[in-house]
Amino acid sequence: MKFKELAELFQQLEKTSSNLKMIDLICDFLKKTTPEEAKLTAYLLQGKIAPDYKGLELGLAEKLVIKAIALAFQQDVGKVEKLFKELGDLGDVAKSLAKEKPSSLEIQDVFNDLKKIALTQGKGSQEKKLEILAIILKKSSPLEAKYIVRSVLGTLRLGASDMTFLYALSKVLFGSKEGKKKLEEVFNILSDLGEVAYLALKKGKKALEKVEPILGVPIRMMLAQRVKDIKEIKENIENEIFVEVKYDGERIQAHLDGNEIILFSRRHENITNQFPDIIEDLKKNIKVKNAILEGEVVAVDKDGKLLPFQVLMQRRRKYDIHEYVKKIPVKYFLFDLLYLNGENLLYKPLKERKQKLESIIKKTEKIEIAKYSVCSPTNEDEIEREFLNALKEGGEGVMIKDSNSVYESGVRAWRWLKFKKDYKEELVDTFDVVVIGGIYGTGKRSKTYGSLLVALYDPEKNKYFSFTKVGAGFTDEELENLPKKLKKYEIKEKSKLVESQIEPDVWFEPKVVMEIKGADLTISPVHTVLREKIKKGGIALRFPRFVRWRDDKSPEQATTVQEVFQIYKKNL
Ligand code: ATP
Repeated sequence: MKFKELAELFQQLEKTSSNLKMIDLICDFLKKTTPEEAKLTAYLLQGKIAPDYKGLELGLAEKLVIKAIALAFQQDVGKVEKLFKELGDLGDVAKSLAKEKPSSLEIQDVFNDLKKIALTQGKGSQEKKLEILAIILKKSSPLEAKYIVRSVLGTLRLGASDMTFLYALSKVLFGSKEGKKKLEEVFNILSDLGEVAYLALKKGKKALEKVEPILGVPIRMMLAQRVKDIKEIKENIENEIFVEVKYDGERIQAHLDGNEIILFSRRHENITNQFPDIIEDLKKNIKVKNAILEGEVVAVDKDGKLLPFQVLMQRRRKYDIHEYVKKIPVKYFLFDLLYLNGENLLYKPLKERKQKLESIIKKTEKIEIAKYSVCSPTNEDEIEREFLNALKEGGEGVMIKDSNSVYESGVRAWRWLKFKKDYKEELVDTFDVVVIGGIYGTGKRSKTYGSLLVALYDPEKNKYFSFTKVGAGFTDEELENLPKKLKKYEIKEKSKLVESQIEPDVWFEPKVVMEIKGADLTISPVHTVLREKIKKGGIALRFPRFVRWRDDKSPEQATTVQEVFQIYKKNL
């Protein structure tokens, strides 16, 4: 299929902010593609050339793209820069310079070239990237050039989420949105939208039943629901429970295949290089053919005492890793086993997974099994005692897990519950919110933002709804760093994914996640969370304050409007 048709789809998607319309547009498009082209479409729609876990990024610098445009359309760089100033977008610049021509580019051609650009590295790579881009732009029509440029810059922003795509795929395959759940289950195991599209369209519905974990491919992680009171546990779980320390670190999925080990974060980044110490211990102490393990990595001090998440975040670095291995030692607390010696354990009950996990782990200085005890869900006194013990251990609370539950990949199910210390101390929980705007500060804050406008995510609508403005809780250093941290997400207009009545001084692409606390939930005339349902206004958070950045979370993993509605109802 010609790339021109995909560029036309991009244009239509860009014009709409309705998720339903996007689903229909993508569905109609997928009906015309081959399974191979559907796979590439899944990536290109998000400006990607591979699933996230492969870490292949385009993200070329503006300067380089300006040079490539100049070369492709035989203009001098100064003229391209001038046009950029006028139009404000390099995609539009390329569009204005390209000539209409019969389409010659296939989707596959464009994809191959973009991939080549991403893969070109090392000495002289900038020149090579520039050349490949210039050649493809030369062959492009105006519309094609616009979207190729936006793709390489990482500014495509069509707004179609993974779930939008899965709904569209379901409509193609099942004739309705009914099949989305099944497709999502497959996506949760393969973590590759392109592969899901290919499998579904090439092999049909039956193939979706037999999807197994693949070593080296991250499985989307099972999540927990929050409970505010120990009494709520028995309302949700009947079986025996594991009451386990909730460690305040980073969730890591380890894939062991012979001597090769890969570590994945919950955003599916390959973070193997950051933990040579954990890798070494895993290699020495786990003797299996292959396995997929899950646990929480936590920073510890010299005496093995657990330290907060912020300390661990200093290990997130590209350079000086070995120095930081010594400076910030860590421990990996394992709590689940998803695959062992070729056997898929996702559908085995947790108690069996845990038994197997314990049979393969030898405790070392860096690795141990997460501490837990087995209780009845009705024994509130014992659960309370375990909770207090967990706090003493340095945990932030407990995870309560149904011993009979299967591993529900990617799902925030009521089979895992979390009960944290904050829930007891504060009126309300913490929220992971997405930064959507900035309001300039005055006085002491004149060089930075006085507050940030933040939003909750609605996965059903694929939209971000304004929830509160956060100005408190930042240290002086964090405040000073805000403009730098947020600069690359600045956009000229409100993102079409954002619903807000407040007009901040600066709009941001909804990308950065932060954790906040507040006094209570209220109805606000200006905020937009569930405004349609509540009518008088939207749910908002009063007296919010910043707790920490959650760079380990993607915006789609932020707190949802549905979760907040549940909390709001309980607090009424
Ligand atoms: P929170 O902000 O409370 O960590 P979250 O939204 O980041 O929540 P949840 O899935 O809701 O993530 O809470 C579970 C998280 O707690 C896991 O993702 C994991 O990182 C962490 N965790 C710590 N200890 C455990 C444990 N023993 N079992 C499972 N998860 C644990």
